[in-house]
Amino acid sequence: MIEFQDLLGGFVRIHILHHAVEGEVYGQWMIEELARHGYRISPGTLYPMLQAMEKRGYLTSRQDSDGRLGRRRKIYTATDLGREGLATARERLRELTGEVSHKNRTTESETGDNVHGTQDRHRSS
Ligand SMILES: [Zn+2]
Repeated sequence: MIEFQDLLGGFVRIHILHHAVEGEVYGQWMIEELARHGYRISPGTLYPMLQAMEKRGYLTSRQDSDGRLGRRRKIYTATDLGREGLATARERLRELTGEVSHKNRTTESETGDNVHGTQDRHRSS
């Protein structure tokens, strides 16, 4: 589970894609990388996510032939579709970041201005 998974799941998938475009990634490394960014994600959540992304055609995988300790791990890289998806996500993210930051500034400036604050609040009910 991730906190607010329904909201933040997309961020996690974009983060995975970002690294899978740069190079090869595998589950355990990705869990540690995400933890550094404040996402606590369990293998039980991450592995199905990686598998789903592969199934959707964003990632491709191979078995690590090294097989240390008799364990074979799956190594993922991004496909062309994954690169395309990341490029689009990056644009949207830039847009969203601008919007969200702008909203924060607006709220701060409105706290001292009651008239504008009430005028801007439209009720649609
Ligand atoms: Zn990262």
